[in-house]
Amino acid sequence: MAIADDDIERIRSTVSIVDVIGQHVQLKRTGRNWVGLCPFHAERTPSFNVREETGRYKCFGCDKSGDVFTFVQEIEHTDFVGSVEYLANRAGIQLTYTSSGQSKERARRKKLVEAMEQAVDWYHHRLLEAPDARPARDYLRSRGLSGEIARQFKLGWAPDDWDVLSKQSGIAADLLRENGLAFQNRRNRMQDSFRARVLFPIFTENGEAVAIGGRILPGSDDPAKYKNSSETPIYKKSKTLYGLNWAKGDIVNANQAIVCEGYTDVIGFHQAGLPRAVATCGTAFTEEHVRLLKRYASRVVLAFDADAAGQGAAERFYEWEEQYQVEVSVAAFPGGKDPGELAQTDPEGLAKAIEDAKPFLGFRLDRVLDHQTPQSPEAVARLGEAAMTVINEHPNVNIRKLYAGQVAAQVGLPVADLVAMAERGTRRPQLNVRRPKQRGERRQNAEFVAIALLVQTWDSIAPWLSEALFADDVYARAFAAVAGSGGDLAAAIEAADADARDVLERAAVVDLDVDPEAEARNLIGAAVRRELASAGPSADPDRIRDDAEARVRMEQLNADGLGLDAAGWLLGWLEGRWEERGA
Ligand SMILES: [Zn+2]
Repeated sequence: MAIADDDIERIRSTVSIVDVIGQHVQLKRTGRNWVGLCPFHAERTPSFNVREETGRYKCFGCDKSGDVFTFVQEIEHTDFVGSVEYLANRAGIQLTYTSSGQSKERARRKKLVEAMEQAVDWYHHRLLEAPDARPARDYLRSRGLSGEIARQFKLGWAPDDWDVLSKQSGIAADLLRENGLAFQNRRNRMQDSFRARVLFPIFTENGEAVAIGGRILPGSDDPAKYKNSSETPIYKKSKTLYGLNWAKGDIVNANQAIVCEGYTDVIGFHQAGLPRAVATCGTAFTEEHVRLLKRYASRVVLAFDADAAGQGAAERFYEWEEQYQVEVSVAAFPGGKDPGELAQTDPEGLAKAIEDAKPFLGFRLDRVLDHQTPQSPEAVARLGEAAMTVINEHPNVNIRKLYAGQVAAQVGLPVADLVAMAERGTRRPQLNVRRPKQRGERRQNAEFVAIALLVQTWDSIAPWLSEALFADDVYARAFAAVAGSGGDLAAAIEAADADARDVLERAAVVDLDVDPEAEARNLIGAAVRRELASAGPSADPDRIRDDAEARVRMEQLNADGLGLDAAGWLLGWLEGRWEERGA
């Protein structure tokens, strides 16, 4: 225990649990209890009970219960010590720390934050004053980010040199290293992590500097346009939102948070009079981010590049909407511009785009239906099915039915048919206009899905694939290009021929709603069937036994518990065959 037990008891007896919870939940006196809507699960009738005398709460809906410390931990997403500090702060109690591992950790954290703040200041002064920062100042001015903005956001400049920070900032080497600001190079000397970059310091929501993002100047030959300091004991990307420290006040006032992709987008929103924007730091928008924002607002607007937003994992968004009671909507920007650009050229347009943000489902539907004027009954049916596939991802049947009605009117299909499809909620709905399906087409689709998975979520499928799994030549070449570049899409597109490039470009933007492992198994199964069919009869007993086992394993491919083993074995078997043939 890092905090003296006396202090904890003093807090427990001083702080009113009804007051603390009352900050987050509207409570009404009912007999001896206070009752309200549970903050931990969605409900319409209150089942969350708090009792002052016992200092405890309990929800009869989701069964969460605890004391004032557990409540603060849950609601503020902090640990026990964090909850004690939070409450001590409110009650004006001075804490006594006992020496133990945890308080040492806290002391270390404090040191790291101080060192980071020192580095941020050092870089900031370089930007404002140093003669070598002139190109950086010119660049920022050209983007409308001069003087006042540079000061407000503490922008910095890392000189075009390899160890000035390490040498001149006066920050201890171990703190520089642990903060990811410098490293030990091959010649065993300290080298700065950032060089010739404009810097955007990243703060926690409480304004502690924890990391730095750096951007090259135009014309630099550095291939990495943006670079972030690495994850450290004080910096976790999935839990950090750039700009939240400046934005949280306005987020609360507007009950809305704007989530964008870049540092300059955030600053652009501030300049355009919407100081409630935050940015993910080079990662996807995660559940941790939602939990963080949920503390300040219940409406989240995604201000992403349209393709990136459309690719967002729809199901996760709907889940979060349900679980955290937030509304996720998407803003579309005119002319494919990013928010940072728009803030300079058309601030009203930027504000309008936020105002007109659409619910996530509506936004995705627009992308399916956009500019489509189907000419044949088959095309109408296809479009209706595509739209219903998107709609049926939504867990709420009433919402599905409302959208189904809209789609029916828009594409000219009977409302009753689509509403019935929405009621069933089938993932791959089919209307009655039947189309002939060719086997070849289906196989190609499986191969395309595998490529798309590879491009979008490399880790989920890469270990399962090899070039020879692809029967279609173009897909095989597309695979070879991605595999050859280790999953780097830009490099793969560069390396690919025109047809394969076309496949990769489609694969990068397609919406996927599949289980990667199941897709991999399908591909492997198809390749094994082809191999068995093409090999013909053999007199070699080893081979006969081998083939028989392959058939057994193929039966197991989709069985629970056996599938992974079988897939692994079959991949090995296939590779053996391919090698044999190659030799
Ligand atoms: Zn509950």
